[in-house]
Amino acid sequence: TRLTEAEIEFRRKTIYQEILEESRCVKRGNFTGIETADLRLLFKKYDVIYFGRKCEELTSSPNSLRFRLSKRMTSAAGKTYQRRPRHLQTRAADYEIAISTTLLLETFNEEMRPITVSGVLCVDRLEALQRIFEHEMLHLIEMLVWDHSSCSADRFREMAHRLFGHLQNTHQLITPREIAQKKYGIQPGQRVKFTFEGRRYFGVVNRVTKRATVLVPDANGERYSDGKCYLKFYIPLPMLTPVGDEEIER
Ligand SMILES: [Zn+2]
Repeated sequence: TRLTEAEIEFRRKTIYQEILEESRCVKRGNFTGIETADLRLLFKKYDVIYFGRKCEELTSSPNSLRFRLSKRMTSAAGKTYQRRPRHLQTRAADYEIAISTTLLLETFNEEMRPITVSGVLCVDRLEALQRIFEHEMLHLIEMLVWDHSSCSADRFREMAHRLFGHLQNTHQLITPREIAQKKYGIQPGQRVKFTFEGRRYFGVVNRVTKRATVLVPDANGERYSDGKCYLKFYIPLPMLTPVGDEEIER
């Protein structure tokens, strides 16, 4: 069955409203706190409205399904796992859906650009969460039914479009990397200065997550692939000052 745009919109809005009414934490579209119980609630809503409680049934004993909120996921917005405990002789599997709170909570703040998830424009965190969750529900269903899931394959894309109106399998939430670049001018390769325990250091940004990994040339440091030795620092972004080439080579 292909759902009409109006039907998809109606289901979206219904779930959105019910979450706001029933959740303990999520009381407005741009919620500032969320708990794993909210993911279970979302799961139940989608399962009832879309799948006639089939997902609940398929993930119950001997299978299991857990939900997790992740602060450490800084590029993927959601992930669905299927694990088969090796010691068991059965085909029973543990499923887990993880959702990034970092991406949700760092988006819909003061950014000027529109945010789409799965190719659908989202105006607040709950809408974005629903799009992510719809995507992960499909991964779960593919795993349950076909044992294997891929969101770049035709089957997934066709279902995502038919059931949820998704147009893409990507998100454009604001990542820590983007914040680092826009707000602090920090990106990998950028030369920076910072103060750490009272000392001033000059170094090069190697990696950016919520903090930056900065490599500082130092004879006592660890040897890297370029043959030079560096000390490694994890520095919060606001503590870094980008510097030009002249300053570090002084
Ligand atoms: Zn996917």
